[in-house]
Amino acid sequence: MQEVPELVGGALCLDVANSVDGRVLDVPLDYLTTYSDLVDWASRAGGLSAAESTALLARADADPGGASEELDRARALRESVFELFYGLATAGVADPERLAAVQREYTDALGHGRLEPGDDGLRWSWETELALPRWLVAQSAIDLATGGSLRRVKACASQDGCQYLFVDTSKNGSRRWCSMTDCGNQAKSRRLTARRRADRSGGR
Ligand SMILES: [Zn+2]
Repeated sequence: MQEVPELVGGALCLDVANSVDGRVLDVPLDYLTTYSDLVDWASRAGGLSAAESTALLARADADPGGASEELDRARALRESVFELFYGLATAGVADPERLAAVQREYTDALGHGRLEPGDDGLRWSWETELALPRWLVAQSAIDLATGGSLRRVKACASQDGCQYLFVDTSKNGSRRWCSMTDCGNQAKSRRLTARRRADRSGGR
């Protein structure tokens, strides 16, 4: 099993957007190559309970074709979320196509949830379908976009193509790096540089 990066986004949708390293490279490193990667990642990011993860993995086993289609769709949403928030964070501009794509996924998602009695009043409950991780990412993206923290969404200040997104919750809004132990001390930069070199020599 490959080593996975720490989660630094502070919102489910950003943590999922950060599941690609080095989008600027010819061959980015995508951590979501199977449906089970997607479930693990969403679960690690706090989006899925243990019971939901187990149920989704069982469904994926029973319907590999459906799981593979769902992975593609979830990855497409991930790219829309990334482009939308990266554009907002770095240029203050919301790409209309990405905006529409995220909205489409959200309106699709809403048809698969319902309001029901919970421990403390009412709660929103999603169907446990293969698409659940995608629905949760769409909901998280809408919450982040409309919840008052949008101005705090930033992209890592690394000049070497990190592009990780995070919500800056520091008091004075001074956070610059995805992670001090990674880009803050250039560890990721060194990794990406090594990868670039490998691409150049290992490619055609
Ligand atoms: Zn970084």
